Amino acid sequence: MSRIAYVNGRYVPHADGAVHIEDRGYQFADGVYEVFAVHDGKLVGEQGHLDRLEHSLRELQIEPPMGRGPLMVVVREIVRRNHVRHGLVYLQVTRGVARRDHPFPADTISSLVLTARKAPPIDKSVLTRGVEVVTIPDIRWKRKDIKSISLLPNCLGKQTAKESGAFEAWMIDDDGFITEGTSTNAWIVTKDGELLTRNVGYAILNGITRLTLLEAAEEASVRFSERAFTLEEALNAKEAFITSSTSHVKAVTAIDGTPIGNGEAGELTCKLLDLYVDFVETRGGPQNTDRWN
Ligand code: PMP
Repeated sequence: MSRIAYVNGRYVPHADGAVHIEDRGYQFADGVYEVFAVHDGKLVGEQGHLDRLEHSLRELQIEPPMGRGPLMVVVREIVRRNHVRHGLVYLQVTRGVARRDHPFPADTISSLVLTARKAPPIDKSVLTRGVEVVTIPDIRWKRKDIKSISLLPNCLGKQTAKESGAFEAWMIDDDGFITEGTSTNAWIVTKDGELLTRNVGYAILNGITRLTLLEAAEEASVRFSERAFTLEEALNAKEAFITSSTSHVKAVTAIDGTPIGNGEAGELTCKLLDLYVDFVETRGGPQNTDRWN
């Protein structure tokens, strides 16, 4: 069955979806995006994604293309039209079409594009099989809290990972601390059992999966800290994993070729994956989504 995209007010066959050559998203990467996971026909972390989208748009002074209510109608419709039971919705907003000139144009209408695709349902055995990560310098701009479509450093990083036979690249800031992966948040469990992920601020994107997992951990009385950690701490960790709407909670078994723990998914990682899936199925996503930086 052919895929359907939403492009500026119209549902069109995916292959025919196109935007103007002077769309500022194409010219300047002047836009933001969101990726929603669909689990068992339901959107994961809907409010969180909408809150983060509003944060990104506000910080860049891009006019929301429509209100939350109508936007969610389109999001649900794109899920329905593509028959997605398990998969992803990609939503992109740009500042719109204007003659190429760097300052904001006066009266553009924001562009809105949505696509959806099917993906395999969450498979715990795949997620706990584990993946390897490599580390690279974080060469991105200083506002990683904004989910900007300007993803060139992330693409370069992911390519480095791929060429190294790894799944993800963790980025290291100028002070030697790990920020996050190119499309995932980074987590470790220290030797004394403390769960760590970087605190929010301008240095990372506050993942919806991250927020969901923090709430699930809190509810299950799993001790955690939100703070920056170094590569050395990560290499000495007992466990490591990554989170995102696409990767859920995925074990990391080696960093830069060094096995983490015994080189297999850790006990707490497996428990957190169970807690995450349970939280998503019962609560749908994070309840508290008011912290964007
Ligand atoms: N960090 C970055 C840089 C990302 O691109 C993503 C995925 N969009 C994440 C973290 C994880 O965010 P989420 O859990 O909302 O998918």
